[in-house]
Amino acid sequence: MGKERTAVRLSISGIVQGVGFRPFIYQLAAARGITGTVANTPSGVSIVAEGERAALDAFTADITAKKPPLSEITEITAEPERPSGFSGFTIIKSGGESARSTLISPDVSICDDCLAELFDPNDRRYGYPFINCTNCGPRYTIIDDIPYDRPKTSMKHFGMCDLCLAEYEDPSNRRFHAQPNACPECGPQVSLHDAKGKGMDCADPVTRTADLLKEGHIVAVKGLGGFHLAVDGGNEAAVKRLRERKLREEKPFAVMVKDLAEARTLARISEEEAALLTSFRRPIVLLEGRDDAGVAEAVSPKNRYLGIMLPYTPLHALIMAAGPRVLVMTSGNRSDEPIAIENHGGFADLAEIADYFLVHDRDIYLRSDDSIMRVTAGERRFIRRSRGYVPVPVFLSGDAGQVLGCGGEQKSTVCMTKGNKAFLSQHIGDLKNLSTHDFFKLTVDHMKRILHIEPEVVAHDLHPDYLSTRYAMEQEGVRRVGVQHHHAHIVSCMAENRIEGPVIGLSFDGTGYGTDGTIWGGEVLIASAEKFTRAAHMGRLAMPGGGAAVKEPWRMGISALYDAYGADLFDLPLPFLRSVEESKARFMTAMVDKKLNAPMTSSLGRLFDAVCAVAGVRNRVYFEGQGAMELEMAAEGTVDRLYDYRWELAGEGEALALPPSPIIKGVVEDILNRVPLSEISMRFHATLARMFTGLVKELSEKNTLDRVVLSGGVFQNSIFLTEMIRELSLCGLSVYTHKIVPANDGGLSLGQALVASAVVRKS
Ligand code: ZN
Ligand code: ZN
Ligand code: FE
Repeated sequence: MGKERTAVRLSISGIVQGVGFRPFIYQLAAARGITGTVANTPSGVSIVAEGERAALDAFTADITAKKPPLSEITEITAEPERPSGFSGFTIIKSGGESARSTLISPDVSICDDCLAELFDPNDRRYGYPFINCTNCGPRYTIIDDIPYDRPKTSMKHFGMCDLCLAEYEDPSNRRFHAQPNACPECGPQVSLHDAKGKGMDCADPVTRTADLLKEGHIVAVKGLGGFHLAVDGGNEAAVKRLRERKLREEKPFAVMVKDLAEARTLARISEEEAALLTSFRRPIVLLEGRDDAGVAEAVSPKNRYLGIMLPYTPLHALIMAAGPRVLVMTSGNRSDEPIAIENHGGFADLAEIADYFLVHDRDIYLRSDDSIMRVTAGERRFIRRSRGYVPVPVFLSGDAGQVLGCGGEQKSTVCMTKGNKAFLSQHIGDLKNLSTHDFFKLTVDHMKRILHIEPEVVAHDLHPDYLSTRYAMEQEGVRRVGVQHHHAHIVSCMAENRIEGPVIGLSFDGTGYGTDGTIWGGEVLIASAEKFTRAAHMGRLAMPGGGAAVKEPWRMGISALYDAYGADLFDLPLPFLRSVEESKARFMTAMVDKKLNAPMTSSLGRLFDAVCAVAGVRNRVYFEGQGAMELEMAAEGTVDRLYDYRWELAGEGEALALPPSPIIKGVVEDILNRVPLSEISMRFHATLARMFTGLVKELSEKNTLDRVVLSGGVFQNSIFLTEMIRELSLCGLSVYTHKIVPANDGGLSLGQALVASAVVRKS
């Protein structure tokens, strides 16, 4: 007894292809004396294992316990098999059948083994910028179709040399079936070009690039998901030159440093932040910068936070080993355009910006910007979810069918669902010009192909002029569903937390099209996936000049003061009013009076802008959310008292409104009493949190709901998010926040898709 051999068939789904899973199984089987087979299937990996009962159990347990670092197992099922007396364990080659429900791995940063070889003078890949193995390297950006095999990737142009092929075919080798496997003899090469794109004769383009950077030149570097513009982050003049050429006034640049120790010299880094920085997904992490860290002021002007990332490709590691200590690495694009990916496209697009180009001859099939994250309220949260995370799906609580969510306009992404998975695209950008629109369409087509999804339902924003809405309108033979912006925000957060409605949703952002045609953005909803009611909203303020008021918070400042004080505002001895020409200010109030180009908005983002201006933080912003961000950064200390607040019924049959005037008056009084900005900002944040919590508590009792969902770009504000979570939790409410997709419009497409899915199912 016990020596009898039994057999079992294991079916594993998840990210189990292209991540070294079969060789891992092979080695596990060899170690346990198991015989049988392992093969890729359309849904994952299938194993037939024969051995003694105890060995089989240990083998099965090892699979989940020791799985390869890049794999993700979502399901593992076991069925008994009749033993057929295998003499050994074999890896069955992929057949021609499509593996279309298999998950594709995101691009993965260079692993420690490859890094060691890269810097080992005796290794045959010493200094080779494209070294990789099954545990690391490009994936999503080089795949054109599935199954994930070399002929379906941009590596198809490179035939493997004998040595590489031997590694590729050896199950005990780290490069067994590593599709991008390459070496200096047979793989892609880098080359250096001048500003006109003309090839430069140099023996070692990488070292030469490092030297050029140290001399202060701007070099466009073709990487994994597109071009970066690189410049010495310690060189003030060089960084300023990049800003001028890129037409980017104040939006912070991200920097790269060679390792965690170096990063700690630039910023204060918690354990959680360190884990995130060094994870194989390698996002840009927003960190609190240190003074006198040797970073040029122009990298992140007037901003306490610094976006830092560590090298994630072998090329980065080589440049950082020889180049400047701090390297600005910003997306290689002109402002508002998608990141450049092709060599000749890069030369053309970046000709006026870069002094030199370091390019390579491996195509990028799908561009992908760096992901950006920040640890707030103790959790990792996305500001931008892209390279390293896409296309890992969001696992849903139920089957959503095949739906496409087209997203909004800013920070656009698309989302496709299939079964219980929702696939969010990489960051596409602000959908405001033709080239971004083309990238949007390309992404949709690409995702349909590699995920094998043919959407039956297309979800879109209610804003008729968004390019994403127009795209949806052009789709034929599908069911189209319009989804309200703030509803989509709440449902995106419900989806990633796998909760069903109804919930109380706080949907706070800058701008979104309301069901009444006005601009919303401070919305308290009672929502489930298929429908919502607007229970309350921030009291409305006029936006004199419409879109101009977004770029110029002083307009919101005047509008808010006018709302609170009427024409008496001009008697207030506020420094803010001295910073604005009175004729201009009076022009604003006239626009409000005449309702001329002064749309009303319940946006909380605009209220932050108003306070930002009135409190003297800034009158003009250069990127979305800058005002609110600086107001947040100014906050300090504890709060002893709050501003007045209230909520009231706006009118018969209407939602409750929370007028901004009591808060604005409180801020003004504080300013007149010379209360420091740090205190005003803290009190403003705390007042909003207490006010909304009070309102939610009332709604929760009235509707017997105890779950509160927080979504929208305003929740990227760490102080506000922390305060809201604390206040709501103190009331015994369950609070749900974003951890898998961004709270901003980058997560909108997920919510849209799930609303549409629910609407279609209910009808
Ligand atoms: Zn590796
Ligand atoms: Zn080779
Ligand atoms: Fe939004």
